[in-house]
Amino acid sequence: MAEQQTTTKTTCPYCGVGCGVLATPLETGTVQIEGDAEHPANLGRLCSKGSALGDTLDLGNRLLHPKVDGKRVSWEQAITSVARGFSEIIAKHGPESVAFYVSGQVLTEDYYTANKLMKGFIGGANIDTNSRLCMSSAVAAYKRAFGSDTVPCSYEDIELADLVVLTGSNLAWCHPVIYQRLKQAKEDRPEMKVVVIDPRKTATCDIADLHLPVRPGSDATLFNGLLHYLKKEDYLDLEFLEAHTEGFASATSVAKASAGSIPQVAAVTELQEQDIVKFYQLFASTEKVVTVYSQGINQSTTGTDKCNSIINCHLATGRIGQPGMGPFSFTGQPNAMGGREVGGLSNQLAAHMEITNPEHHDRVARFWKADNLATENGAKAIDMFEQIASGKIKAIWIMATNPVVSLPDADKVKDALKKCELVVVSECEENTDTTALADILLPAAAWGEKDGVVTNSERRISRQRSFLPLPGEAKPDWWIITQLARKMGFETAFPFEKSADVFREHAQLSAFENNGVRDFNIAGLADISDEGYDNLIPIQWPVINKADKGTARLFSDKQFFTPSGKARMISVEPKLPYHQVSDEYPLVLNTGRIRDQWHTMTRTGRAVRLNAHIPEPMVQVHPLDAANFHLVDGSLAEIKSRWGEMIVRVVVTDEQRPGSIFVPIHWSDQYASMARVDALVAAVYDPISGQPESKHTPVSIRAY
Ligand code: SF4
Repeated sequence: MAEQQTTTKTTCPYCGVGCGVLATPLETGTVQIEGDAEHPANLGRLCSKGSALGDTLDLGNRLLHPKVDGKRVSWEQAITSVARGFSEIIAKHGPESVAFYVSGQVLTEDYYTANKLMKGFIGGANIDTNSRLCMSSAVAAYKRAFGSDTVPCSYEDIELADLVVLTGSNLAWCHPVIYQRLKQAKEDRPEMKVVVIDPRKTATCDIADLHLPVRPGSDATLFNGLLHYLKKEDYLDLEFLEAHTEGFASATSVAKASAGSIPQVAAVTELQEQDIVKFYQLFASTEKVVTVYSQGINQSTTGTDKCNSIINCHLATGRIGQPGMGPFSFTGQPNAMGGREVGGLSNQLAAHMEITNPEHHDRVARFWKADNLATENGAKAIDMFEQIASGKIKAIWIMATNPVVSLPDADKVKDALKKCELVVVSECEENTDTTALADILLPAAAWGEKDGVVTNSERRISRQRSFLPLPGEAKPDWWIITQLARKMGFETAFPFEKSADVFREHAQLSAFENNGVRDFNIAGLADISDEGYDNLIPIQWPVINKADKGTARLFSDKQFFTPSGKARMISVEPKLPYHQVSDEYPLVLNTGRIRDQWHTMTRTGRAVRLNAHIPEPMVQVHPLDAANFHLVDGSLAEIKSRWGEMIVRVVVTDEQRPGSIFVPIHWSDQYASMARVDALVAAVYDPISGQPESKHTPVSIRAY
């Protein structure tokens, strides 16, 4: 039997649950993976993807050396080429002519360094992240309601609730460990109720007391109807409303006008009246309610409004800031939250500050000693690639993401990158649909090789620790960005020698002239030593003082981050999705994740056991639609939209809603041609958040 080596505590690199992992490299060359029983997110559990991490660490298809125009070069030559390319374009066309497109996969230290270079020293704000596709509507809604991007709850609240409403969330497949915790809690307390609101009958419905197969896109009407019901039936917390909220009269009056009676709600949502009443009564009569929402709510042209319609119902009943209560958005990626903390979105500055807020701007500029700090918001993800297509942006650095597969209107993204003057890609993988279009390739460290922190959906900062050597010439992202910054002439602002240096500066910026006011505050970690950083145990922000153990939930003091200190109820006028079905495109295409794959499969695709779950691109179709469109289970079908087309295997299932089909997001042209579903998805987005409508594209389907 192989002798065991050292065990490292680290964090899973996949979903926003952020599970603790124990990784033990064995003498056989494999790595033993177990759940960390001491990590508060998972308490030892792992899902199929996390358990298979050890199967994904081989070096097949790893990018191991820097390359310029396909030829191997030294790091010095590669960084010089990137610096020269960016500097020349900036000198000619200004800082808005270059962009960084980053990822919820990179660590907070990577995000911080990239954000500092682009906004602070290049002087533009064209840095955005694939997290834009994941949670930006939730961010915008929290800011509107609370004056801050603050997730109020903890995972523990889900277990403490008497009613858990899951809306736009297939928790069982997309956040499996929290599903396991919820399932266990329901088994322990059978009186606990679970309501699932989802057009599809997903695996999550296995534990649902009530499933509402809502018409795609009509969620805001359902929650406006609930708000009206709570008022009409006298379930409001008047004391809380009076003392701690503003906007109630307008929000409820708009809710009444737009949603009205139960029959009106039923007509719009296409739900049974008795099911709506059952849901409303359950919500109204249960004190401890948590509403979990995710991409089914966020990925919409009205995603921000939908999130606010949910938050409104919690504010109207005062159900926030207490154990077992609150509106709880779940992030898709392991570090979508960390990106929010350091300004990874093009409309943010670091430490939850805003570019266009003069006080914030002044504070960050002084802290960074940056004379050139961007003064205007940059392009959000979809616009960024539009601007590449139009020639406004001439150079882009893509880090740890595969937009040719994952962005809506993906063929247009591909064409835009083909035309772009300079495409730099830092990646672990050598061959992806995006690296194929790169002028310069930079080999990045992968999970298990890099060091830093990530923040999960409950605001818990956890360490990702290295337990494997860096292969070839691969380097951590923060290191690569630092070298570029120095080469571009910003040596003194980028003194970082290790990830702890970056984290310390990030925490010090959070503490700088903060006085405990801002929501994101890790002042208590500002003086963290290298040893303290190495040994950092998972902790939920805010962490105001050195001795703090973190903050499980916010707003228990009923004080919000708005100027008045009151939460804002937002008047939401529901709108249906931007594109509606037609004779030519009669079905709604819904996209999402499957249980055993992650994003574009560059990592999970290596694990044989994960590929066994659903082995090829597929479309789920209701039997009525299968009959209408002459589709046979197991045969191939061609799906077309106004933007693109694909070929997939047909799965006929009554778990699908009639009129709506579901295709997973994972497969790429690396698997087969015409396998990218995002080639079909319209690049329309929420005007407030910039999040695209990935759940509602009109399509046609025919047997292939
Ligand atoms: Fe990883 Fe998410 Fe699974 Fe946890 S639930 S093991 S974080 S993929």
